[in-house]
Amino acid sequence: MSAGSFYITTPIFYVNDVPHIGHAYTEVAADVLARWHRQSGDDAWLLTGTDEHGQKILRTAIANGVTPKEWADRLVETAWKPLLETVNIANDDFIRTTDERHEVNAQKFLQHLHDEGHIYTGEYEGYYCVGCEEYKQTSDLVDGTGDYAGQLVCAIHSKPVELLHEKNYFFKMSAFADRLLALYEENPNFVQPEAARNEVMSFVKRGLSDLSISRSSFDWGIKVPWDESHVVYVWFDALLNYITAAGYGQNDEEFASRWPATHIVGKDILRFHAVIWPAMLMAAGIEVPKQVFGHGWLLVGGEKMSKSKLTGIAPSQITDTFGSDAFRYYFMRAISFGQDGSFSWEDLSARYQSELANGFGNLASRVIAMVVRYCDGVVPALSAGTAGAFTAEDLAIAATERRVTDAAAAAIDKLAIHDALATVWELVDELNGYITLQEPWALAKNPESRERLGTVLHTAVRGLGTLAVLLSPVIPIATGKLWTALGGDGALVDQRVDRAWEWTGGAQVSALEPLFPRIESIVEPTDG
Ligand SMILES: [Zn+2]
Repeated sequence: MSAGSFYITTPIFYVNDVPHIGHAYTEVAADVLARWHRQSGDDAWLLTGTDEHGQKILRTAIANGVTPKEWADRLVETAWKPLLETVNIANDDFIRTTDERHEVNAQKFLQHLHDEGHIYTGEYEGYYCVGCEEYKQTSDLVDGTGDYAGQLVCAIHSKPVELLHEKNYFFKMSAFADRLLALYEENPNFVQPEAARNEVMSFVKRGLSDLSISRSSFDWGIKVPWDESHVVYVWFDALLNYITAAGYGQNDEEFASRWPATHIVGKDILRFHAVIWPAMLMAAGIEVPKQVFGHGWLLVGGEKMSKSKLTGIAPSQITDTFGSDAFRYYFMRAISFGQDGSFSWEDLSARYQSELANGFGNLASRVIAMVVRYCDGVVPALSAGTAGAFTAEDLAIAATERRVTDAAAAAIDKLAIHDALATVWELVDELNGYITLQEPWALAKNPESRERLGTVLHTAVRGLGTLAVLLSPVIPIATGKLWTALGGDGALVDQRVDRAWEWTGGAQVSALEPLFPRIESIVEPTDG
């Protein structure tokens, strides 16, 4: 990793899934962190993509009368890439596990582990859940009900598991338990938040089994390089995307400059990322990830969002009404990143109205309108003789700009995106209070307070510029419009978010359309 490198990943999404707000939530969080680091001068790199192998994909492709690759191509183009556009993700790369760069280099990785004696041939018998694409422990199974009464079913999918017996290749994962525990102890940040770290540690302390890493009962996958009658277990294949996308096996220089990554994952796939994945890397002699961060569930009506519970809400249902900025803001602000959080249409529209439209959007519109009305759009400045010396109230705003810039950066370092936003909103609230107290509309009526009016508007414009920069990673569209209206130099995405308070104002403002227009009626989508 080079100095200032920030490589961040989302899980690669299973192509068969239907995109719902849970997927979009993960994408937005990773995107906000990537944009923040990019605007802090880091070489930030956001990777996302799709997981396309495995028996379940093969089965649905056959059921739809196409090849599995055709099926995956269709879903990538019609579902997954559009999801990124829907919530305005600025990813640097999109990897598919069917990409040649992935397949070839995943095979290199596997061959390397085989050559180094980390893989052996064995017999495996166990209960396999096709929905999970994994062998289940008996503790993961429950008694079926209804149609499945008398059978064992997967606790997650409520569908019967299959008893499979096959010759398999195994990864000697059990050999890495001690090194993993040492990693968690020595680097408490490796798995976060703390609850996730505790869960992973107690899981590994109970002892690790070796991992079956191949299948021979179907052929939709990466071939095991020394035995082409087997394909690589889909999770083992999928995890490798994080290094194959960064140049592993084909571009050592690129790989050295990017790796290690910060992985943002849902807590349901924490063990794959915090146990199996670092063990694989240790075996290959590759540095472990910088961090694995498990975010919480999104709850809708108290139930976890998931494909199997049919509570999925399409992200476009929200963005069609509120826009992508509001989607991004809402989920980053309303939910403590790392904790479970509830989504409700009422909370979304309440926050849209009070925080985005009234709190931020209205502040921007009013200040710019007053500069246009009272100063012909020319931003008053001390140097031009159109503003006076700062009073304590003006200096307090400048101090808050600096304080929230630093505090937001500190929160982002801890991946506490919600805290960063709450901090920035202190400036929104303080500026609104400042305008109310300073009453520029009253100052404008009196020619003797002309200079004071200039100082107040100058201070407010500066504050808005600071907000535009600080909020640009989260609400890039609205802040882009604001930056243009403020007469900011250069592109907003090129402004340093860690020095947002330094902006001293442009020369001239221009008219600003409402950033968060009033939404007349919100139609809540009905179920099925
Ligand atoms: Zn399952």
